Amino acid sequence: MTRIETMAVHGGRDDLAELGVHAPPIDLSTTYPVPDQALGGEALHAWADGAASASSPVYARLHNPTVGRFEQALAQLEGTEAAVSFGSGMAAVTAVLQAACVMTAKPHVVAVRPLYGGTDHLLSSGLLGVRTTYATADGVKDAIGPDTGLVVVETPANPNLDLVDIAQVVRQAGGVPVMVDNTFATPILQNPAAFGATYVLHSGTKYLGGHGDVMGGVVACAERLAGPLRQVRILTGAVLHPLGGYLLHRGLATLPLRVEAAQKSAATLAQRLAEHPAVEFVRYPRPDGVQLRGSGAMIAFACHADPTDVVRGLRLITPAVSLGSVDTLIEHPAALTHRLVPSVAREECGVPSNLLRVSVGLEHVDDIWDDLHRALCDADYVKASLKNSLDLVVAH
Ligand SMILES: *Cc1c(COP(=O)(O)O)cnc(C)c1O
Repeated sequence: MTRIETMAVHGGRDDLAELGVHAPPIDLSTTYPVPDQALGGEALHAWADGAASASSPVYARLHNPTVGRFEQALAQLEGTEAAVSFGSGMAAVTAVLQAACVMTAKPHVVAVRPLYGGTDHLLSSGLLGVRTTYATADGVKDAIGPDTGLVVVETPANPNLDLVDIAQVVRQAGGVPVMVDNTFATPILQNPAAFGATYVLHSGTKYLGGHGDVMGGVVACAERLAGPLRQVRILTGAVLHPLGGYLLHRGLATLPLRVEAAQKSAATLAQRLAEHPAVEFVRYPRPDGVQLRGSGAMIAFACHADPTDVVRGLRLITPAVSLGSVDTLIEHPAALTHRLVPSVAREECGVPSNLLRVSVGLEHVDDIWDDLHRALCDADYVKASLKNSLDLVVAH
């Protein structure tokens, strides 16, 4: 069997030799000539039925060859028959809810917190007519009812890196489809479909693109389930732009190397953070080597100092949401990514308000550490000196 590094480089390139090109062409056509209109009509009908291929794309909302190559490559990395991409990770989550809950009239969702703040907010908003019960990973079975259409989990979870045993959730789901958001682990470190996940979701915006310059989402699944997702995509227009498809496909080639390098630095940083007096605790996954093959490059830590002060003191690390880019990013979940999760629920699922989330990039590990260390010391100093001055005010 081909190894993952090789698949990452060669996936989705089967037709290039025949085309006589080395780089995948970016096909920007919005429409495709169909001289035989009856044949074109048959193709249109096939796409509308959710087909994986047809004699012509007909129209760019139905299919795009550049995007199709990325999907083929991603499906191979996840070990699934198919993958269907979307204009963003949230568009992909929306499409899964529409296919699993709306199209089947099973509007109930069971979700395990924590989840990415956008997913959490979408589920609790009721926007798509879904009703969500939040359960613990052990409580999924009891939360399922006759109209449950989907179980939603993230592992490692955004933002606190909680781990969920996928096979155990799948067993509890008892036939109800399970969606696993695999954005943090990437297909390099974890393949949820191998443990029974029905839908494997990625925000391609993160590690798959890997350079902070492309938005996209993708769902890897069985061909039987890809059809309805394609139908939803055609009807709602939640398509990935061909340039995005090209960039995501290109990103896959270096994904194993980027994940490996960033993970190595993250392990060092997690250890140093755990020993830092200004840090209360560190969350960094312990891989079991079976479901999760590596810790990854995301770290969460709680600090004694004000998280706003810590971030303000950084000079190298980019203070921004998102993750999985070449540069190290830091953000304060309670203020930004998880702001719209009710604060009680946020605290209950292990996301305290002093938690910071770091996406370790490809800079030299000592430069990242110098920046973090100094900002942590400075912030603590600021806090301590402020406290002293307050004591003085009180004392006088
Ligand atoms: C960012 C993110 C999403 C949403 O993806 P977008 O591309 O921003 O729409 C979903 N899940 C996780 C875990 C994420 O980090």
